[in-house]
Amino acid sequence: MAEDLDTFRAETRTWLEENCPPEMRTPPKSEKDATWGGRNPEYQHPDQKLWLDRMAARGWTVPDWPKAYGGGGLSPAETKILREELKRIKARNPLNSFGISMLGPALLKYGTEEQKLEHLPKIARGEIRWCQGYSEPNAGSDLAGLQTSAEDKGDHFLVNGQKVWTSYADKADWIFCLVRSDKTVKQAGISFLLFDMASPGVSTKPILLISGNSPFCETFFDNVEVPKGNLLGTLNRGWDVAKYLLGHEREMISGFGLGGAGKDPLVEAARAGVDPILRAQIALFQVRAKAFAAMSEKFIDELKAGQAHPAQPSMMKYYGTELNKTRHELQMAAGGSDALEWDSEASHEGAAARGWLRTKANSIEGGTSEIQLNIIAKRILDLPS
Ligand SMILES: Cc1cc2nc3c(=O)[nH]c(=O)nc-3n(C[C@H](O)[C@H](O)[C@H](O)COP(=O)(O)OP(=O)(O)OC[C@H]3O[C@@H](n4cnc5c(N)ncnc54)[C@H](O)[C@@H]3O)c2cc1C
Repeated sequence: MAEDLDTFRAETRTWLEENCPPEMRTPPKSEKDATWGGRNPEYQHPDQKLWLDRMAARGWTVPDWPKAYGGGGLSPAETKILREELKRIKARNPLNSFGISMLGPALLKYGTEEQKLEHLPKIARGEIRWCQGYSEPNAGSDLAGLQTSAEDKGDHFLVNGQKVWTSYADKADWIFCLVRSDKTVKQAGISFLLFDMASPGVSTKPILLISGNSPFCETFFDNVEVPKGNLLGTLNRGWDVAKYLLGHEREMISGFGLGGAGKDPLVEAARAGVDPILRAQIALFQVRAKAFAAMSEKFIDELKAGQAHPAQPSMMKYYGTELNKTRHELQMAAGGSDALEWDSEASHEGAAARGWLRTKANSIEGGTSEIQLNIIAKRILDLPS
């Protein structure tokens, strides 16, 4: 068994050396360098497409999904080795995808065979880009208060209402969406629908942020017809699917705390010589980051083995996002006034400041820190609510 894994590691290392293009081993310069795929893909560099296609052909964009659904069919131990080998060569993520990190696990657990075969391979190959239609103007932390309605019209649902903060809704091809299918009850009146953003009656309006970017939108549904076959899970039991998916979303966001591929700018700054107080702060941060990485690995192993506590993603999300905020604050401190500049070359055209401002959202997206602390207090510490 151990020998099989050694062979797998050696073969993986050789394949990655031969197939990961050089540009994909350099750190992304900005958010634009991320590969999202979809019907209208945007690539800053041709190697992005090459890397995505090569990884997808092996099923390695989703290494632990079954081969029948476009995955690599790898065991947990093999998946871990692949992750380590990718990290070793500082490879970029071949595909950023809400389909992979959020919808995929929910489809695997709640989807019919037909739904899995229809959607999972397209997610794995990056052909369809998904967005998440959860939040509404009066339903954020109190998500079950949502009002977007789905009326039963026989062979289809008629969807009307509004979502907000829908990340990349204007670029997405399909949406996974929470709707109210029964107005008389709260959690037990919610259903989970999948539909094409090109359906008549769907429109989006981007919202501009303090970082100067506009990654998310208001999304409107005006008499959108959604076929009954696009219901995921049971009618009025969408809340179960929604919560399961949120666990995976929180796990994904906690990963922000692990930092990105490539050289660590904080270690570089400490080596280059910063003042002793900042140096001590960087050292303390590095110790915490290493402890978090070890804990995260243990958590992912437990999750894959079905042994994780259901509230564990809240712990990881809370701590991981706090760490990511600290990382960017220290980077700004190390960068001095250059880092603050918006347009200069020294500031990488504002990348440092934009990155720092973006982290402000980490403790809001996917459920705020206050809500995670409530969950931890109730479900892990058993404190009274
Ligand atoms: C970058 C980003 C991307 C996002 N992407 C998406 C997306 O793609 N799709 C989507 O559906 N949504 C998305 N969201 C929305 C996100 O899920 C919500 O913003 C989040 O759930 C908080 O809801 P709210 O903004 O309505 O805040 P509110 O619920 O109004 O909360 C306001 C404040 O009150 C606090 N609060 C509320 N209730 C309690 C309580 N019971 N106890 C203690 N404190 C409380 C909150 O912690 C917060 O500080 C995104 C948000 C961000 C920032």
